[in-house]
Amino acid sequence: MVTRQFQRPDWLKRGQVFWGGHLHEPIYFYRLLADTQTRGEWTRGRKLAGVDPSAPWLVQWYDLCRSPALLDQLAELGVNCLYLNFFKGFGMEYEAAEMHRTASLVAQCAQRGIRTVLYIQPSNFFEQTLLAEAPQARDWLARDAAGNVIHYGAGDFRPVACLHHPKWLEYVRQTAQAAAETGADGVLLDNINHNQCCCDVSQQAYRTFAGDPSADLAADAASSLTTRFRVETTMHLVEAVANSVKAVNPQCAVMTNPAWPRAQNVQAAGIDIMRLASVTDAFFIENKCFPRMEGATLIGSSYAYRMADATGTLAVLSAWMPDMSLPEQPYPLRRYLLEPLAFGGHVMCPPWALRPLDERASGRHGPQDVYLRHAPVGEALAACYRLGHSVGPLLTDATPWARVAVVHPTEWFTQDFDTAMACMLSIDAVLTAEHIPYRLVAGDALDADRFDVAVVPRAAELASSTRNAIDRFAAAKAVFAFPRELQGPLHGAPAATVSADARAWAAKLRNAHPSVAPYRLAAPPWVVSFPLTCREGRLLSLLNYSDVPTTVTILSVQQALWPIKKLSFRTLEGEWQEITGQTHADSIRFELPDWLVYALCWFDLSTA
Ligand SMILES: [Zn+2]
Repeated sequence: MVTRQFQRPDWLKRGQVFWGGHLHEPIYFYRLLADTQTRGEWTRGRKLAGVDPSAPWLVQWYDLCRSPALLDQLAELGVNCLYLNFFKGFGMEYEAAEMHRTASLVAQCAQRGIRTVLYIQPSNFFEQTLLAEAPQARDWLARDAAGNVIHYGAGDFRPVACLHHPKWLEYVRQTAQAAAETGADGVLLDNINHNQCCCDVSQQAYRTFAGDPSADLAADAASSLTTRFRVETTMHLVEAVANSVKAVNPQCAVMTNPAWPRAQNVQAAGIDIMRLASVTDAFFIENKCFPRMEGATLIGSSYAYRMADATGTLAVLSAWMPDMSLPEQPYPLRRYLLEPLAFGGHVMCPPWALRPLDERASGRHGPQDVYLRHAPVGEALAACYRLGHSVGPLLTDATPWARVAVVHPTEWFTQDFDTAMACMLSIDAVLTAEHIPYRLVAGDALDADRFDVAVVPRAAELASSTRNAIDRFAAAKAVFAFPRELQGPLHGAPAATVSADARAWAAKLRNAHPSVAPYRLAAPPWVVSFPLTCREGRLLSLLNYSDVPTTVTILSVQQALWPIKKLSFRTLEGEWQEITGQTHADSIRFELPDWLVYALCWFDLSTA
């Protein structure tokens, strides 16, 4: 069971958070990157989240983003949350002036009804500036098995920190506390997936953890014992920060960027997403999964939203195209904003909205404006946030409707992350493509009252407590194994390309219980559906992953499960309209009007 250590702040509710964009990099970080560019180092030619650090208008753009006029415009668009820089790892003294400026911005945002989340860097720092003010930081340098300092990225100026060093942990805790004391509404721990140090302090901590004075961190690297050790120490850091922040203000949210899910073993670097999410209030989904179709493959973040649900958190989509570009067409931008809404009302977040408007978009050189003033971006934001504010109240207390549970195999992730992840993404792809609603659950949360069918990966190595929970469930309800041979290759993204064999497996699952598939959808394969229980009714979101408009969609609902003849329907731009269904045998058939990106069906069962 995932027991939450803190109650999620009241302001972080489904369908209630409208992010304004990412302003988390301080000006001196851009300047440093510009300097290293001119020296021809690792950042040469690289934009940082769409910002060219060497552009002559950098400061002008930086100030524009923090101006009262821009804050006014954000508030007018419906933005109620903004992500700001605070501690980047240069040092508390070095960053003091900019922290002071951020504190003033926090107050200015609050006056406009905009909540603020402040950036904290917990896993690396900038050697030159931090050592100048804290010489003891020399002891905080993370080292590999050979004793060499580990660096973040390819440069030599940004060492990774030892997450086992109590003084570094205390330093991070103090910066987070200072961030909360500005009156901000949240802190975000970035790059939390960098627990890899093998220094003497780490080695000693590992020996204590292993209960073996001769245990060797390097020799045991990537074993399940070291993975548990990494996870344990990362949790220690996150818990210390969370306790400190919540002591200042229980309504201050703790968020993280765990770089999950990606096609790499983040568990070995200290991330057990179930445990991490249980002490935090929201997490970034930072990957290359800008929601889209590539060839016949649907790319999105379905699995991550379901993990957020399983842990009582919200997910913040902070995904990029593989080359960090932005699509030219308006549909993908709308889909990006609406995917979190469609999957249950997570945080609607455009990380790219405050990028400087480059010459391609503006036809001019210079920083005259930010991206959200570029028509396709501004219009997407305005339309999506208008819809979000309008349907948000319906979502606030909604919960995903699903009678199928997919058991999260924690132990398997510790033993063999890649295989476990490939399997879980495959299950998600099949169930999502087949419109079979499901929820992820930790094994011991598998409750026969809440679910009729449990899906368990056949190949999984399961903890004995999980096996016991599955056995108890099987005594009352059905347990369905996901065959090893249906596991796809490991994608960095939940990507739905479903084989005929997988469809045949899903057809058997559908027959396991009437509640497995409460509705059928006759729609193209790039349409995804997600149902919620909401007050006395059901809410069904439909999202189109292609840029091709969806014309005829037929929705057939099982009369016994959702006994209603009328539904209310709305699209992104339209108003609510009523649609009356036709009864066919044991189902009610609704013909939905044309829609482009997103559609919502509301079944008010109190009128049934
Ligand atoms: Zn260390």
